[in-house]
Amino acid sequence: MSVDWKDNEPVPYAALCKTFETIESTTKRLEIQKHLTSLFTRVVEKNPEDFLTVIYLCLNRVCPEYENHELGVGESLLIKSIAETTGRKPAKVKEELSKWGDLGKVAKDSKTTQPTLFVPKPLTVKVVFDKMKIIAGISGHDSQERKVREIKFLLTACRGKEAKYLIRSLEGKLRIGLAEQTVLTSLAQSIVKDPAQKLSRAKETEESTEASEIVKSAYSEVPSYDIIVPILLKYGVKGLEERCKLKPGIPVKPMLAHPTKSITEVLDRVEGHKFTCEFKYDGERAQVHMLEDGTLKIYSRNLEDSSTKFPDIIERMSQIVKPDTKSFVLDCEVVAWDPEKECLLPFQILSTRKRKDVKEKDIKVIVCLFAFDLLYLNGESFLKKPLEERRQHLINAFQEVDNKFSFVRHMNATNTEEIQTFLDESFKCNCEGLMIKVLDGQESTYEPSKRSRNWLKLKKDYLSGVGDSLDLVVIGAHLGRGKRTNVYGAFLLACYNPEEEKYQTICKIGTGFSDVSLENHFKFLKEHEISAPRNYYDYDKGANPDVWFEPVQVWEVKAADLSISPIYKAAVGMVDHNKGVSLRFPRFIQVREDKKAEDATTCEQVAEMYRSQFNNSENMQL
Ligand code: ATP
Repeated sequence: MSVDWKDNEPVPYAALCKTFETIESTTKRLEIQKHLTSLFTRVVEKNPEDFLTVIYLCLNRVCPEYENHELGVGESLLIKSIAETTGRKPAKVKEELSKWGDLGKVAKDSKTTQPTLFVPKPLTVKVVFDKMKIIAGISGHDSQERKVREIKFLLTACRGKEAKYLIRSLEGKLRIGLAEQTVLTSLAQSIVKDPAQKLSRAKETEESTEASEIVKSAYSEVPSYDIIVPILLKYGVKGLEERCKLKPGIPVKPMLAHPTKSITEVLDRVEGHKFTCEFKYDGERAQVHMLEDGTLKIYSRNLEDSSTKFPDIIERMSQIVKPDTKSFVLDCEVVAWDPEKECLLPFQILSTRKRKDVKEKDIKVIVCLFAFDLLYLNGESFLKKPLEERRQHLINAFQEVDNKFSFVRHMNATNTEEIQTFLDESFKCNCEGLMIKVLDGQESTYEPSKRSRNWLKLKKDYLSGVGDSLDLVVIGAHLGRGKRTNVYGAFLLACYNPEEEKYQTICKIGTGFSDVSLENHFKFLKEHEISAPRNYYDYDKGANPDVWFEPVQVWEVKAADLSISPIYKAAVGMVDHNKGVSLRFPRFIQVREDKKAEDATTCEQVAEMYRSQFNNSENMQL
């Protein structure tokens, strides 16, 4: 039974939590979709003003992703708030957490056993959302106390299951199996639904599929519900197509590449197309925006505003931009550069740069910007244009400046030998390998946020057999012995299962660390130790570490190969009925500061890597 409310009245938080509960109780995608669409439709009908708030609460965000205000209240603060609200001892709350691995459940149970003297007003979605925004924005002096005060206000007013979802939201992740794609589809369905219009079932499905494609495409171009939802409410889905277009100042979700393991594989994939090979530079992705008013912004791979990390790039843009270029969105790689020897330096050097508020006078690591794509120019979006045309505009609108800005080196190769020669050359220039891209036709458009087969990466790693390194989340550690006493000696890593929102263990790793890096990991991860594994960690007791961590850091790891494992859970059920996949001889490469835990290698990718070990026996030798 859903929770109802009157027209024009604020949407009760209970109605949202009831939908969360129903969604959590099923794994069937269509059912999840149905429940969410039903809630969204009622919100649109009864109180559209709350629609945006409901969407944000479903996604557990307080603002567009690129504004980077994370909720993520720490475990100890939440335990304190629960204890103080319910009169329980913090130690008791901790004990319950160890038992259940879900602080949300612990909060709900603690509230149930708590005697209530007076009953506060029921919570509305607006009150909860406004408070969450306040909590996310609290910093500085007294911040802990102020956060606890706000959390206690909300917790006191929670009824029934609300405490469970409230605490999970504050932790930073709802974990009810609700993917953003589902939210986007329901968003489209709730707008398209018109009860007065009697459509046949087939017609309704067709319209709803088309609508959800439009909404998803609009979102990957303009990843802001603040912009999309009001347009949808006012002009409907068709209106979105016309009014919601890429524009400078709002980062586009970057197009990603598909790993390959040999030139033969590359040629098979691009057969029948004109294609181009570009050097794959070993740096950091940067989307450079110039707004109409001349403001410059730089966004990272995960849409973080990194303008204050690169004041030197901002400063040099006036030399690079040709006079007729008034506004643009440029896709580039920033690479550490040695201006004396005029050569590229490895990513490790770049990673020593401070992450924000860099002062030009303090800069020690010089960088050069390598541009490979142009997504927008002077008021026009180029996303749907073929790469060949985008490249031409790129070359026309900008100019190379020694040691500062360059177009990526490219060659429109046609056969194995040419690619091989160009690949060798990329290695000599300290690049990671090549990016091979379809150059013309429909398949060469820019596909925001997609890991596309129209962009292939051919890296040095493919020679080691795995094809690509993996980006994995550190979820636990074993205490060090001998030389490693006082630091962690080995770590438990996991890949991500986005469907189930779980981290699946993949290997234990103790190789590739210097003494200094072990000390740094210890310092950082110690702060993120948790008292019990989360209930969204998929692990086997046989791989139990000494300590567990919150899923906060991603590591790049290389391995000799992948094998089936009775202990690890990565891609379980995907390549073997009940066994998972693990990495053999894993070696730590580096921390991936530019990836969030949810951007880690997925179980799907792990399964594909495992399978491709057998499909691709003609691995090329250099
Ligand atoms: P992914 O981004 O595919 O999840 P990743 O972050 O580990 O994986 P890589 O495997 O190194 O990245 O490959 C893609 C990245 O390569 C791009 O995000 C971009 O930063 C970088 N890159 C370097 N040169 C180019 C180029 N010529 N074209 C596109 N991307 C390039």
